[in-house]
Amino acid sequence: MTELAKLPGVGHRTAQRLAFHILRAPPEEAAGLAEAIVEVKQKITLCEQCFNLTDEPRCRICADTRRDHSLICVVEEPSDVIPMERTHEYHGVYHVLGGALSPIDGVDPEDLKIAELLDRVTSAGGGDAPVREVVLATNPTTTGEATALYIAEELRSRAPQVSVTRLASGLPVGSDLEYADEVTLGKALAGRREL
Ligand SMILES: [Zn+2]
Repeated sequence: MTELAKLPGVGHRTAQRLAFHILRAPPEEAAGLAEAIVEVKQKITLCEQCFNLTDEPRCRICADTRRDHSLICVVEEPSDVIPMERTHEYHGVYHVLGGALSPIDGVDPEDLKIAELLDRVTSAGGGDAPVREVVLATNPTTTGEATALYIAEELRSRAPQVSVTRLASGLPVGSDLEYADEVTLGKALAGRREL
């Protein structure tokens, strides 16, 4: 139960409820759950192109040829891809940074997948269509804004032909993309502006 309580968003009460549920469940269901947890650890890795979570070398979004590979949406965490997908208004691909710049906490550009993003945008003939737009969808927080500005600057000097946009305001300031509802996020995406 102590282990269950370590899961994000699970307090002691919830851990207790989960423990009771598992106790009452048939043994094969409990075994299935345990197996699923082990499988996550063994099989889930980061996509070689966008660094989203995947159990293949390339995630299903990167592998999807119907998606617009000339449009890249930059997010902080894999969990930010989910609300963007829920809007059903985004048909490009993603780039997951793995966090946001925060010099105070020791998070510098080299700790994030920023070099990989710049490579992706500037490398021509990697089999994918040339990138036409990068949407910076980092969180509307101090660190998220700083990250967006840093990347925008880097892109402007290295790939001036690429349009760099930021989600429109309207998202609650200081909050995480993860908690934005799909209507608000859809509007922020539709109203994105050039940086
Ligand atoms: Zn991917």
